[in-house]
Amino acid sequence: MTETDIYDIAIIGGGPVGMFAGFYAGLRNTKTILIESLATLGGQVTALYPEKNILDVAGFPSIKGSDLIASLQAQLDMFPITIKTNTTVVNVAKQDELFTIATHDGTTLFAKTIIVTTGKGAFEPRKMQVDGVDELVGQGVHYFVKNKHDFDNHDVAIAGGGDSAVDMATMLNQLTASTALIHRRDQFRAMEQSVKALEASTVKRETPKKVTKVEKLSSGKLKLTLANVKDDLLHSDLLVDDLIINYGFISANKTVQSWDIKPELDGQVFHVNQELATSVPGVFAIGDASHYVGKADLIAIGFGEAPNAINAAIRVFDPERGGPGHSSAMVVRDGKVI
Ligand SMILES: Cc1cc2nc3c(=O)[nH]c(=O)nc-3n(C[C@H](O)[C@H](O)[C@H](O)COP(=O)(O)OP(=O)(O)OC[C@H]3O[C@@H](n4cnc5c(N)ncnc54)[C@H](O)[C@@H]3O)c2cc1C
Repeated sequence: MTETDIYDIAIIGGGPVGMFAGFYAGLRNTKTILIESLATLGGQVTALYPEKNILDVAGFPSIKGSDLIASLQAQLDMFPITIKTNTTVVNVAKQDELFTIATHDGTTLFAKTIIVTTGKGAFEPRKMQVDGVDELVGQGVHYFVKNKHDFDNHDVAIAGGGDSAVDMATMLNQLTASTALIHRRDQFRAMEQSVKALEASTVKRETPKKVTKVEKLSSGKLKLTLANVKDDLLHSDLLVDDLIINYGFISANKTVQSWDIKPELDGQVFHVNQELATSVPGVFAIGDASHYVGKADLIAIGFGEAPNAINAAIRVFDPERGGPGHSSAMVVRDGKVI
């Protein structure tokens, strides 16, 4: 092994947080590799909600998920960061002062520090527990919305009551012939502004109701049988072209937890300190992969953590290096900016 084979920083996981960490590592002139198990970067945003308008990323009043990832890609492309997609990290071990990273294809990589940005691991949608519904996936039943224009002028029902379901209902309602939102409670678990937008829209709220049966009619339409949650005897039918199930996602971080390095866990993710350091020296965790008191799993939070983790990693392998700073940093002395 020569010095050239050793990366300063290996970022494991190419979601939005790993991508921004990669950019910042480039800005700080480090030799960095970004490793992602899927074919494309973007994590949950690319895989689960590329069409959603994200409202809580600083600097963007609203940005479509896929546009945010395209901008992160452009930012990442500014520096010669090595990017390996289609590559799952199956083990990380520490040998002397170096980390060895084993990937699913038998390759071993070496790095001085590790930034874990694996999110909560592989995820899958929470299923609707109604007989026959899964057989209709792809025939009008959807767990993902890849392209909102697939629903242009359709009659659409969305099942769910969280942020994502509420935002999707108001977004698709601008394109569909009709939109219904089915939720088992009268209150939605969404941001106040999202609920306001829903209430001001023409989305039909089917609450407090649950779907008890889904049938495909010869006309191609789906017939949904809805039951009133408070009184199971009250049934109604809804005819739609599409049913979008939005009950959230379940994930299991088993791969990451099986690595030889065993950072202390906080639930399913890594416990970190103020420097985003895990209990294993040289290993940091940011974004959805880490937890501390008060942490919210939001893109904006992960973006904020990335520079701190990269700067802390640099202090591990190059303690003499100054910074961070920026070219126009202000210095305040005696209450005056100089
Ligand atoms: C439906 C939905 C809507 C959301 N809406 C918003 C919103 O409006 N605003 C907001 O701020 N947040 C929102 N979130 C949350 C947001 O998506 C996450 O906080 C964000 O994606 C976390 O980014 P991350 O990079 O930490 O992890 P992830 O996006 O989960 O990316 C982790 C990446 O690591 C890869 N990976 C995992 N294990 C390995 C391995 N062993 N080897 C290599 N690669 C690996 C995965 O393939 C994945 O690409 C939403 C989430 C969902 C599900």
